[in-house]
Amino acid sequence: MGDRKVIVFDTTLRDGEQTPGVNFDKETKYKIANKLVSLGVDVIEAGFPAASNGDFEAVKYVAENLDGVTVAGLSRCVKSDIDRTYEALKNAKKSRIHLFIATSDIHLKYKLKISRDEALKMAVDSVKYALGKFDEIQFSAEDASRTDWDFLVKVFNEVIDAGAKIINIPDTVGYAVPKEFGRLVEYVKDNIHDRENVTISVHCHNDLGMAVVNSLSAVESGADQVEVTVCGIGERAGNAALEEVIMAINTRKDYFNVIHGINTKEIYSTCKLVSEMAGIELQPNKAIVGFNAFRHTAGIHQHGVINNKATYEIMKPEDIGITTDHISMGKLSGRNAFELKLKNMGFNLSRDEVNIAFKRFKDVADNKKVVDDEDIREIVEDVILNSKSFKEGELWG
Ligand SMILES: [Zn+2]
Repeated sequence: MGDRKVIVFDTTLRDGEQTPGVNFDKETKYKIANKLVSLGVDVIEAGFPAASNGDFEAVKYVAENLDGVTVAGLSRCVKSDIDRTYEALKNAKKSRIHLFIATSDIHLKYKLKISRDEALKMAVDSVKYALGKFDEIQFSAEDASRTDWDFLVKVFNEVIDAGAKIINIPDTVGYAVPKEFGRLVEYVKDNIHDRENVTISVHCHNDLGMAVVNSLSAVESGADQVEVTVCGIGERAGNAALEEVIMAINTRKDYFNVIHGINTKEIYSTCKLVSEMAGIELQPNKAIVGFNAFRHTAGIHQHGVINNKATYEIMKPEDIGITTDHISMGKLSGRNAFELKLKNMGFNLSRDEVNIAFKRFKDVADNKKVVDDEDIREIVEDVILNSKSFKEGELWG
């Protein structure tokens, strides 16, 4: 038996769109969805069809025009939502309804104002009603991490008996901690019916900055599917970032021993597209795709990276599709880094020219925190020009 495969369920177009201030129209959703297909996600949650006419149209459009991927739509456990979701997804190559209802006492009492039994009945009735209308039925117990574990398992078992093949454990409010969340996944795994044929999914939020670690802990505990968004965008502090979960699994495959269908070389361009479309600038120190993620500033680090990248880089920028050298030049940069930079920029200077250029570079760096490629180009061109006229002067003299 080979390594276990982790299914990547991308919800950039649904939970990601719940980022404050973000609104994707039909064309934008389609554009991002296409990119997600190239990236290799298994499921795209395109939206919440019953939420608005605009979103209904967008989900329908994505479902009708996308190949090679399962398209999911979110739905409350009410008939009208299920009907609407069916209308939006009926022409998809492969459709999945994502039914959800809250199961924690705090949500039941103050939000839905119904009892546990009533919630359970709505969940089961909805799965039964959805049966046959979609290729797959996924059921989410909203606020699962704050739900009584026995009640949670009871709900899961009844929806599984009714026909749901994917059960999702959301940490809706970002409350879980990694070990505890892993234990919850194990508890569910050990107590659900038909484990062999049921996919266990997790959906983590980042309110305490733990969406990615909680997702990874769940994978370690046997979760089959992770729900993620590109760049971690989403409601409040966002969701687990696809690129972080995937690169952790990749970089530490010795530890996780799982595989996935993501083409990591598409990560950088996908993140760029989504941050552009969402109008969200990524923090410079963002893991994996932040502007500084592969920049080395300290001279000793730069020296190490030039001799062997593995000294300070656990991943290669090329792995996520970045092609520049990303060596940031500043006053702490040594001669080795400078020479590599020249080489990467295509300059081939004599020893003397490098000496002069390096001196100038140091002068510039004293007054500027980051010396960019343009600055270096100017310095080099100036040096070449001067040394040429010097040589020409010699010839004439
Ligand atoms: Zn969510």
